[in-house]
Amino acid sequence: MADHLSRREFLAASLCLPAGLSTQAPAWNKPGPLGKSGLKVTRLAFGCAEARDVKLIRKAADLGINYFNSLPNRGLTDFKLVGEALRPIRKQAVLAGGSSEKTRQAMLDQLDSQLRDFGTDYLDMWYLIAKQKPEEISDELLEGVRSARQAGKIRTCVVSTHGFGAVLPRVLEVREIITALMVTCNFATWPGTTENITKAHQAGMGIIAMKPLMAGLSSVPKERQAWLQSPETQARRQAIIAAALKWVLGNEQVDSSPVIMSTFEHLEGNVKTASEALSEGERQLLAAHLDRVSPYYCRMCQRCEGSCREALPVSDFMRCLMYAEGYGNMRKARLEFEQAPAPLRSVRCETCPGCTVRCPNGVRVREQLIRAQTLLA
Ligand code: SF4
Ligand code: SF4
Repeated sequence: MADHLSRREFLAASLCLPAGLSTQAPAWNKPGPLGKSGLKVTRLAFGCAEARDVKLIRKAADLGINYFNSLPNRGLTDFKLVGEALRPIRKQAVLAGGSSEKTRQAMLDQLDSQLRDFGTDYLDMWYLIAKQKPEEISDELLEGVRSARQAGKIRTCVVSTHGFGAVLPRVLEVREIITALMVTCNFATWPGTTENITKAHQAGMGIIAMKPLMAGLSSVPKERQAWLQSPETQARRQAIIAAALKWVLGNEQVDSSPVIMSTFEHLEGNVKTASEALSEGERQLLAAHLDRVSPYYCRMCQRCEGSCREALPVSDFMRCLMYAEGYGNMRKARLEFEQAPAPLRSVRCETCPGCTVRCPNGVRVREQLIRAQTLLA
């Protein structure tokens, strides 16, 4: 770090928009290409998981949003409602469904079930969800995707992943089938993921942001964000979220950012925010927030992989902690934690003679993993 910069100034500088990032308000409502997928999507997309009103989805379309992300999302998404809402404008809408199933047949069964529920013959995007390792993008699944495409049931295929660096070579290898990636991308993960995003984008992959607003700032547990909890600081919380949205929509390497919206107020607020440029004051606000959450917010950049003396999958366990403490979803946290081999689940950082993991983003790895092990092991 340069001597003459304070930590906050340094973080503010790191949030300056480098080449490829615009300081102009993004033309969010003019659909642009999603890589070489052949689809055109608005930069602000509608995440359908919490929509419970047909009129809300139609209002989003009226306001210019054309991409509706309708992944299963812990069973929250009401496919029938989304399908009913989009029926009058089906041809103009870009509709996405998806599956985390691991076998060809189970995945295709889910596709057929979603098509029935949406009441449509085809989906514009089909997500292979949560593929964290290259081998999870198996030839068998790809064959299923190919057959669905040939049958006219899907137009293109997207992989969503928390293991961006790990799966990128595999995705690039099969880019005739997979044309876009959904990866964690927000003001805090940048610039750790810049290199991979640039590489993927240059290769013609579409890039869709996951957690563009740090999951409404809930990626970090509430008690770790005391400065946002009192009634008088709710306005600051909203200001950070608005700035985070402007930041991601101004990033020209990100083609679209689905944001889950559940009320008209939320939708109209986001659309208004999307039409404005990020100001210098907002950039400083993001830098200050990042400074505060850095010890607890894992960007899942995987730059520390392989550095634990016990070979712990650090970013995977950090993600489990985020599900448990940030989202309050213990079930998902436990399920994900149990994916790790038993010997790794029994390691205790508390008794480790000295942590060998150095996070370049300032995450207190040992402290966070002790919390994860206490809650989940
Ligand atoms: S602990 Fe740090 S280096 Fe490791 S994945 Fe998280 S942010 Fe990246
Ligand atoms: S403290 Fe935990 S994360 Fe760090 S080296 Fe030891 S076992 Fe690995």
